[in-house]
Amino acid sequence: MYTDCEFGSLPAAGRRSLANVGLWMNANLMDERGAARQGWGKVRFELPGYTARVRVRLTQIDGSLPNLALMKLAHWHRSHGDDVRFTRRVTRDLFEPDYDRVYGSVIFDFSEARLGLFKKTWPGAITGGSGAGLHLLRFTVEQLIGSEYEHYDYSDYPEFADSIGFTQRGCRLDCGFCQVRTKEGRPRSVNTIADIWRGIPWPRRLRLLDNDFFGQRREQWQARIREIRDGGFRVNITQGINIRLIDDECAQALASIQYRDTKFERRKLYTAWDNLKDERVFFRGVDCLRQAGIPPTHLRVYMLVGYDRAETWSRIFYRFERMTEMGIEPFVMVKDRSRLDLRAFQRWANLGLYRVVPWAEYRLPEGVRRAFPSA
Ligand code: SF4
Repeated sequence: MYTDCEFGSLPAAGRRSLANVGLWMNANLMDERGAARQGWGKVRFELPGYTARVRVRLTQIDGSLPNLALMKLAHWHRSHGDDVRFTRRVTRDLFEPDYDRVYGSVIFDFSEARLGLFKKTWPGAITGGSGAGLHLLRFTVEQLIGSEYEHYDYSDYPEFADSIGFTQRGCRLDCGFCQVRTKEGRPRSVNTIADIWRGIPWPRRLRLLDNDFFGQRREQWQARIREIRDGGFRVNITQGINIRLIDDECAQALASIQYRDTKFERRKLYTAWDNLKDERVFFRGVDCLRQAGIPPTHLRVYMLVGYDRAETWSRIFYRFERMTEMGIEPFVMVKDRSRLDLRAFQRWANLGLYRVVPWAEYRLPEGVRRAFPSA
C-alpha cells in the first residue's frame, strides 16, 4: 500500500487545509462513468476540522470561446479552496505535477486526435462535451458537482470582456447530425440576461449560446428580449436562431434588438440551412425576417455539407447560389472531415473568395484534385 500525504499552506480565511490526503488501496471505487468497480485507486479522506485541497487540471481541448463547463468547474473548485490549473495543452508539461482530478472538455468531432492524445496522457481524466462521444454525454457539470450550479469563473480568460451564457437549453427539433436534443432535451429557460451579464464595468455585450432561443416559453423569450432591449445590450447569438420555426412576432422581436457579429461590429444574425429539402421553409423564414426589417444581407447561414447521402456538387451549389444571389452570407460546415474537396470548398466560401474567383478556377491542391476529380 502506498500512502501519499502533503500539507498545504494555511489559507487567509483561517480555514485549516490539509492537501491531498489519500491512500492508494484496493477498494470499491467509482470509475469516470460513475460505475462502481473493484480496483486500485487513490481513496481520499477528509479529517475532522480539515478540508482537503484538491489539485485540479482543467483542459480546454478545442474551441476559441471561453468554455462554460470549465468555467463552472473552475468556480466550484476555487470556491472550495482547491488548486486549479487551466490549460489548453493536452499533454503534460515538463514540470507539471500530478493531479487529483483532471477534466477535459471537447466540443468538435474533428478534435478526435487531440482528444485521443489527451486521454492517453491522462487516463483517469473526466472528459465531456459534445465532441466527447455520445456515451459520455450523460455527464453534466451539475452531475459531477452534485447540484444546479450557475456560477462562472472568467479569470482563465483575461482577454475576454464579453459576457457569455445560455438563456435556454435544448431544442424543439432533432436533426440527425446534432446532439443537442439528445444531450439537453426539449427547450427550457435557464438564465435571465441579468444572470448572464457580468455587470459594471464589463461592456454590455452578450454572447448567447442558445441553440433555440425562441424554443423557450413565449413569455420567457419575450422577457429576455425586453431585458436585452431595455438594458442597451448588443448581442451575438452565435449558434443561430431556428429560422424554420420563426413567426412574425419572433422576427419583430429580433428586429428590435442590436444583433451583431462575433466582433460586435456588423449587424449579423446567424441561422442555418443544412438540408436542401428545407428550401421552402427556409425561404419562408427569410421572408418573415425581411418583412420585419431584417434584410437577407444581415444573415450568416451555416450550411452543412458532407452529411446528406444524396448530396452532389450541383445540389451543394444550388443551395450556395440561392443564398448568395440574395446577399445572404453562407458559412460552410463540413461534417465529414476526410472530404478534402469539401474542406477546400469551405475555405473558398468562408473566406469570401467566391466573390473574386469562380470555383472552377479556384486552384485546388493537386492531391485533392486527384483524389476528388468531381470537385
Ligand atoms: S435545429 Fe440546430 S440545435 Fe436543433 S437539433 Fe437541429 S441542428 Fe441541433
